[in-house]
Amino acid sequence: MRVTWSAGPQLSFRLDPEDEITGKASDEHPIKLAINSCTIGGVPEDAHPDLYAVAAWTVVAPWTRRRITFDRAISAELAEALHDGWGIEAGPVGAERRRPGARLAISYSGGADSVAAATMYPQAPFVHFRRVNHPRVPNRWPHYRSDVLAELAARTGRELSVVTSDLEYTLAEPRPGYPEHHAVAAGALLLADRLDLGGLGFGYEMGSRWLGGGRYLWRFTPDNPMWAPHGRWGRLFAAAGVHIVLPVGGVSEAVTMRLALGSPLREQVRWCLRGTGGPCRVCGKCLYKELIQAAVERRPLDTPVTRDSPVARKWLKKPPYGGQEMIQYGLARVPGIEDTVFGPVLDHFDVTEESTSWLEHCYPPALGEIPERWRAEAASFVEANVGLMTEDEVRRVETWGT
Ligand SMILES: [Zn+2]
Repeated sequence: MRVTWSAGPQLSFRLDPEDEITGKASDEHPIKLAINSCTIGGVPEDAHPDLYAVAAWTVVAPWTRRRITFDRAISAELAEALHDGWGIEAGPVGAERRRPGARLAISYSGGADSVAAATMYPQAPFVHFRRVNHPRVPNRWPHYRSDVLAELAARTGRELSVVTSDLEYTLAEPRPGYPEHHAVAAGALLLADRLDLGGLGFGYEMGSRWLGGGRYLWRFTPDNPMWAPHGRWGRLFAAAGVHIVLPVGGVSEAVTMRLALGSPLREQVRWCLRGTGGPCRVCGKCLYKELIQAAVERRPLDTPVTRDSPVARKWLKKPPYGGQEMIQYGLARVPGIEDTVFGPVLDHFDVTEESTSWLEHCYPPALGEIPERWRAEAASFVEANVGLMTEDEVRRVETWGT
């Protein structure tokens, strides 16, 4: 793989003979390349070469097999992280490594998880990734309202950098998206020098970090390659002086929902990518989040989705489901759930409030993963607003999927 950055900054890349058009992201999802260029706007034209290298890697990793050649020298430490993590030869080498900056920014999407992470660090600036069209790829997804999400982010009153990018259009199928989950951070990486960043906080919660929500569906994942600090991505970001931080990595989506709805940012919470005046209420994500919200608020499900709706079909199938722990949490808590679209799911689980109460507390090792500089603030927030899991509850996490 050969990577070039030009004014814009624009990233272009050329595949080497051993590279492949259909690759695999770190979550094992197969993805097909659509176009070999993208632009990242709202960032300075100059940053440490390791930041350019990691930003590029979040886009080109799935298609790279053996080596990557950057257009500027990287540090030996960064080359080593690429080699250790992916078995990739990276170069040229010749730069001093970047020292971590002093600040933590939040990669802010506006969803409940992201808002909860932001609430734990009231002083942290936001970096918001906004999708824009690619000049050479037709937009067949006009319902995706990135403008609405960016507007909501602007109304939070936080220090905000909006990064605009068409990098999601480098994917051909099944729809535009991040080549790697970490591509959402491409702009934040290029802003890291200007914002003096030493860490970047993501809204990934316990399901994504510890319960294998995604690649390891249904399995405890202490060594999650995407989000563990000692995983390959964690080490790569750290080598560029921007630690991956998961402020809500130890709590479930029930907790992030409760924290987000009780936060000063409550009015700006939005997980639906479709609605303009509010969430659309009829997409699969709205339905899933409504289950969680109803459970947290201990009220009946309020949704226009009926059992005949296409998005309800998923709940006629057998488990496992993505976010299964939250499905169980909702089944145990939402009054009248048997008469809703989730009714059929009850046949597969025997759940009670007691058996799902571990989802209301924080898994302590998640706090231990937060770099020391930012740990105390998270720990005191958790102590005051969530509470730590008991040993018995910790066991529920660590035996998940067995
Ligand atoms: Zn929706």
